[in-house]
Amino acid sequence: MFDKILIANRGEIALRVIRACREMGISTVAVHSTADADAMHVRMADETICIGPAPSTDSYLSPLAIISACEVTGAQAIHPGYGFLSENARFVQMVEDHDLTFIGPSAEHIRVMGDKITAKDTMKALGVPCVPGSDGGVPDVDSAKKIGAEFGYPVIIKATAGGGGRGMKVATSEAEMERAFQTARAEAKAAFGNDEVYIEKYLQKPRHIEIQVFGDGKGNAVHLGERDCSLQRRHQKVFEEAPGPCITEEERNRIGATCAKAVADLNYSGAGTVEFLYEDGEFYFIEMNTRLQVEHPVTEAIFGVDLVREQIRVAEGYPLSFTQEDLTIDGHAIEVRINAERLPNFTPCPGKITQYHAPGGLGVRMDSALYQGYSIPPYYDSLIGKLIVKGRDRNEALARLDRALGELIVDGVDTTIPLFHALLGQEDILAGNYNIHWLEKWLATDP
Ligand code: ADP
Repeated sequence: MFDKILIANRGEIALRVIRACREMGISTVAVHSTADADAMHVRMADETICIGPAPSTDSYLSPLAIISACEVTGAQAIHPGYGFLSENARFVQMVEDHDLTFIGPSAEHIRVMGDKITAKDTMKALGVPCVPGSDGGVPDVDSAKKIGAEFGYPVIIKATAGGGGRGMKVATSEAEMERAFQTARAEAKAAFGNDEVYIEKYLQKPRHIEIQVFGDGKGNAVHLGERDCSLQRRHQKVFEEAPGPCITEEERNRIGATCAKAVADLNYSGAGTVEFLYEDGEFYFIEMNTRLQVEHPVTEAIFGVDLVREQIRVAEGYPLSFTQEDLTIDGHAIEVRINAERLPNFTPCPGKITQYHAPGGLGVRMDSALYQGYSIPPYYDSLIGKLIVKGRDRNEALARLDRALGELIVDGVDTTIPLFHALLGQEDILAGNYNIHWLEKWLATDP
């Protein structure tokens, strides 16, 4: 059992972990940069420790600073949240070497899934359906053109070390291949220090459907259904729902069982997400995220489980606290990501919050580290809150989202709240009729 956990993160996800720890009677250590001395996660934790200056490379991304903070405070385990060091296998190896516990999968599982080519090969071998494409890395333009001819255009060139939607380029014809290939490579090199790319058939109108899985590290695993995260801008999710409006129970059980079996066979430990593109009734694996996702609350809402508590318990060596049969879906949940960004260009908009009021009432959850008088620093990502609503069915969830958005007040900075008001006026959104291109098309035509 852990007495003390260090949270290697900031913002709403640091609060999320602190809340789970408090309910479990575990004390918490918040780490922070000098820019975050007044942040809410620092105020809420039992102990706090400054780990460096504002730039995240010198603080939240510094393995040495975080491991030292554990040594100084006597924390036995580290919860990484999402982003920062959460999927950094070298960091996890260091944590393990210092006899500390990383609350998440092993360094080896993170390494395998962090390289998208290895991840695809691994999943394919375990019987998970994948997007058709190149057999591993593509070394040069000539090979890329051969693959384009073989699979037919359009194709997408992706960075094997990719993440956050970077290093991805579509080629719609052979004439476009050279440029797309070189750009994807250059972007991959700049963003990840690794220019290896691979090629996939570019699906025209898929939905992004991801399966939440949970393993105990000893060969047992369950799935907690899907989330539909198709509403994206620049490959970044903005609106997520569970269950997926177009997924049948039969499809959920089938793909869920395939994913649960795959992670069980891997002896995977903790929370994970297997991401798919879904088109014409078929699922195509694209990648696996070996951490808690931003959008995990929609799954918590419909299954009534605390995924962070479960992560901590599994890291402590306990078996899973639920079986597949225990996991039944109740209702429908939607999350919207509130970013401090100025529309229509989504320009980051840090600054001081002059007024903040969170919505409440039945079926409403607001995960945010905002408070009145807080200054959002310019150094980190622009997510300032997640509004999650749950209803007995999708229509009730949509009505509740509309009502809750009406109660939410964030003054002092521009936010993406108006985007969600506008989306709720769209027939396609109300009908659940959208794919991964819907949002960008709509943003391009609607002022
Ligand atoms: P990242 O790790 O950078 O987020 P992913 O592989 O998860 O990259 O892909 C992110 C998004 O890019 C997907 O949700 C989808 O919108 C789009 N995408 C990725 N692969 C394909 C593909 N083969 N066809 C069409 N769209 C794709």
